[in-house]
Amino acid sequence: MRALYLLGPERMEFRELPEPVPGPGEALIRVKSVGVCASDSHRYLHGKLGDEEMPGPLILGHEFSAEVVEVGQGVTAVRPGDRVAVEPARHCGRCEMCRMGHPNLCPEVQFCGTPPIDGCLRELMAYPAELLYPLPEEISFDEGALLEPLGVALHSIRLGHFKPGWTAAILGAGPIGLCTLLLLRAAGAAQVIVTDRLDYRLDLAKRLGADESLNSDREDVVQGVLDLTHGRGVDVVFEAAGVRETPEQAVEIARPGGNVVLIGIPVDEWICFRSTPSRRKGLSLYMVRRMKHVYEHTIPMVQGGLVDLRPLITHHFPFSRAEEAMRTAVHYRDGVVKALVHVDQWQ
Ligand SMILES: [Zn+2]
Ligand SMILES: [Zn+2]
Repeated sequence: MRALYLLGPERMEFRELPEPVPGPGEALIRVKSVGVCASDSHRYLHGKLGDEEMPGPLILGHEFSAEVVEVGQGVTAVRPGDRVAVEPARHCGRCEMCRMGHPNLCPEVQFCGTPPIDGCLRELMAYPAELLYPLPEEISFDEGALLEPLGVALHSIRLGHFKPGWTAAILGAGPIGLCTLLLLRAAGAAQVIVTDRLDYRLDLAKRLGADESLNSDREDVVQGVLDLTHGRGVDVVFEAAGVRETPEQAVEIARPGGNVVLIGIPVDEWICFRSTPSRRKGLSLYMVRRMKHVYEHTIPMVQGGLVDLRPLITHHFPFSRAEEAMRTAVHYRDGVVKALVHVDQWQ
């Protein structure tokens, strides 16, 4: 079977690997659709992410759907032929954080496509069956791959204690920001303001239900949000860009007593914002670490049509052109929002 390795900056190589054999509790899965995440495309461009070290060649990818081919000993939850979404985090289940109900904070976690754990840009994987979530027929493999970013958005909304009738701002209209928008609409938001630097993403945000959009290259985001909320600010701010300015903006546009949810991964490691408005307004800050306990809830939402992920899927690439998918995503080419790699189609 084929696997695609990242060797260094902008250097990938297909290699032939032996077919994995599922052990007890595992299933052999055939990877179908893989979403290109900003973390993947940045690892592709720089050969690493932030200050992490790449100990050697790495298979990227963590947003994916698959089909069960075979099951190992003791597996009853899935059967060959099942279409599944895959939870990319394998937590230990034994540590204090796991036992406290925070598997996303497990220090022993193994996460697909994060060094040293190989990801899903390979044709077959042996994977713990308990981390496979069967997809109902209404959800395609492509939508199944987007359940991972949708899960991050759901976890973020829960952390921010968002309530129906509240107002929100989303800073950054990438896939996570747009998934947050879809969920806020489903959750009964009274007003949602979305900001980004790219007009085509703001246009999509408007089509997906944003009340207002602000282009942060041309407009003063802080003044713009205050004007749109009659000086009050919004109840919850979701920072989903990971650039230097957005946490600063977030604390300025939250209402007194409001919540700020930091989702974006800062490119330069530090998060900075003014203490005076944050302190005087008594803001609550929440840091998002991936997600937990989401598939049980996102799958029925997508199945029932409460959330439509399809408009986010803009590009499709066969497996042989996966590098092109990385380049398209990292350079924001051609109106890309979510690019998918179809690992089960060679060309
Ligand atoms: Zn991701
Ligand atoms: Zn653990």
